[in-house]
Amino acid sequence: MVKKNSQAYTIKIYCMKCKTLLYRYKKEGQGHLVKCYKDGIIEDNTKGDLKCPKCKQLFAREAMYHNRLANKIIQGKVYVRR
Ligand SMILES: [Zn+2]
Repeated sequence: MVKKNSQAYTIKIYCMKCKTLLYRYKKEGQGHLVKCYKDGIIEDNTKGDLKCPKCKQLFAREAMYHNRLANKIIQGKVYVRR
């Protein structure tokens, strides 16, 4: 789903514990990363189980936002780079 949103930009989401790249994600809008909409994930290096593929740390939980499936980030488990 492509929306006209000049605020959208790509970020990389890493495991806080072992620094593995988990997702490349098209983020909408400014502010702190709270959730990843599944349709915004460009590259998924996990097995889709919301755990780091390397250290097996759980970093997110499935949730629904505005009728869109999302991964709600568990704060402190990941860090983000532009
Ligand atoms: Zn990890």
